[in-house]
Amino acid sequence: MQRIPGEAFTPAAGEAAADGAPLVGVLALQGDVLEHVSMLRKAGAEAVVVKRPEDLDAVDGLVIPGGESTTIGKLAEMYGLLDPLRKSIDEGLPVLGTCAGAILLSRKTLFADGTPADQPLVAVLDAVTRRNAFGRQVASFEHDLEVAGIDGGPVHAVFIRAPWFEEVGSAVTVLAAVGTPDGKRTVVVRQGAVMAAAFHPELSGDARLHAAFVKMVNEVRGGQ
Ligand code: GLN
Repeated sequence: MQRIPGEAFTPAAGEAAADGAPLVGVLALQGDVLEHVSMLRKAGAEAVVVKRPEDLDAVDGLVIPGGESTTIGKLAEMYGLLDPLRKSIDEGLPVLGTCAGAILLSRKTLFADGTPADQPLVAVLDAVTRRNAFGRQVASFEHDLEVAGIDGGPVHAVFIRAPWFEEVGSAVTVLAAVGTPDGKRTVVVRQGAVMAAAFHPELSGDARLHAAFVKMVNEVRGGQ
């Protein structure tokens, strides 16, 4: 595990954080890794980057950032991370997937035109995602989003070539949706300790989604 230089002290694997804060890893294969580290710290967690299967044993929770889901999936496969990720999450490791991270967590993903995309997935979330779902006109947009369980007004959400959740299973709770001309589209979900958001919560300066995740990590830790 590698330390990220920064203002705050970041413990390495196995070192307890001084104040008992949970240790949350950020999967560092591609994407906004440092931004997530910084938001996790803002949300009261210690943060480390995760690159190898053994890093997973040391963390209390994991964030899978946005980026390009095919690239992250292929790199995860190449580094032997795909099965360990699936196993750790199945065994209860709390995880937050954002944008491409949400796609990776889903059991199946579709291209924008609705045809199935054949790419490596962690497949721990009973949901089908549609990649680049909002179409070219609104490839990127910002939206003030009411998220169930997050107090203090809407979250300013940045969507960048974002997916949506096309279908979710009965164990999945929808936490937020965006209105489109064709109806509401699900963009934030939770299934047990798996949370997934179609937007980039690391980019708006608002750490409330990370804080909700850190709270969940603490609840899982407390219950052990
Ligand atoms: N469009 C990307 C994908 O399908 C996700 C975009 C993002 O993470 N910002 O993988």
